[in-house]
Amino acid sequence: MDRETRPLPPGATIGILGNGQLGRMLALAAARLGYKTHVYGPDKDSPAEQVATASTVAAYENAAALIGFAAAVDAVTFEFENVPVKTAHELSSRLTVRPGPKILEIAQDRIKEKQFFAAIGAGTPAWAIVNQRKDLDSALQTTGTPAVLKTARLGYDGKGQAKIKTPGDADAAWAAITGGKTPAEDGFAVLEAFVDFRCEISVIVARAADGQVVPFEPAENEHSNHILSSSFVPARIDPATAKAALAIATRAAEALDLVGLLAVEMFVTASGDVLCNEMAPRSHNSGHWTMDAGGVDQFEQLVRAVAGLPLLTPVRHADVTMVNLIGDDVNKLDRYLKDESARVHLYGKSEARPGRKMGHVNLLKTRGR
Ligand code: AMP
Repeated sequence: MDRETRPLPPGATIGILGNGQLGRMLALAAARLGYKTHVYGPDKDSPAEQVATASTVAAYENAAALIGFAAAVDAVTFEFENVPVKTAHELSSRLTVRPGPKILEIAQDRIKEKQFFAAIGAGTPAWAIVNQRKDLDSALQTTGTPAVLKTARLGYDGKGQAKIKTPGDADAAWAAITGGKTPAEDGFAVLEAFVDFRCEISVIVARAADGQVVPFEPAENEHSNHILSSSFVPARIDPATAKAALAIATRAAEALDLVGLLAVEMFVTASGDVLCNEMAPRSHNSGHWTMDAGGVDQFEQLVRAVAGLPLLTPVRHADVTMVNLIGDDVNKLDRYLKDESARVHLYGKSEARPGRKMGHVNLLKTRGR
């Protein structure tokens, strides 16, 4: 429920569900605007609690801890979309939660997400619901091959996904995503046509409680092992494609009646068609370039939306490539720290495990230089 229309005054506390790096950067942006932050999440020694005003380390299902958290904050947002919907509902019965729980419900489920994209007239790769192994064969008729089988819920960075190059791969793909168990409920998985895309882009839009929508420019994204490795702006797409992508993200935010940020990941095909892959109602790794390339950044824009402040129009003054520092990439730090064009952001994680996002660097190419 979004009932709060008065702006949060300076000194108010924004509650953040999730205490990873996105929560950390959100807390830093909130502090700039005079807000306190209280982060809530299951992980000890988290990146966010190092910079937030207060921290609760507890499970998302811990009712007593949630009641204490709700009493200590003035509004709530989240840094990742897999917070249990029940938790978001419970909090929203007590105070303003932006974006609202209904949006989480859609963003947590690839099937609901694809149905939503269809409802707003946004294209997706051909897809079909797969409840049981036997559905996979008919689903392959819909998508053709190659295709990718994905769990509908709780997948990220390529987890819960298996590629099907030929129909003969179906058994192995099913075994890979089910772990050999029969799914207990319908809506377990979705099969998607594998898109031979020209590039991947994402659009992040901010939307305020009064309906003001402000998009960031599309970023072009490159992945390695299913994890985002770099994002750059401007994306190598023509103006018509950029316009179509911005229109989709704007339409999605409006249809969801979202207050906050929405990131929509899309494939651009050789013919310039834009197909939606997935969306996240929060700040997004592919938007970290906004922190240094000019104007308001995604985290400040989210704080503004949550707090009921006016949104700003971002004006980019540099071309930029954001490079993620994943695992051992932090060993390249010395080089980046000497580079005048590099803005380094580290997340305060002590152990550099493979696949772990340790920080990012924005490499700026100032116009005219
Ligand atoms: P996801 O977890 O759905 O964001 O997938 C992670 C990455 O896998 C995407 O950013 C793409 O690079 C790739 N991928 C996922 N689905 C598809 C698809 N249907 N066609 C082509 N590439 C895909």
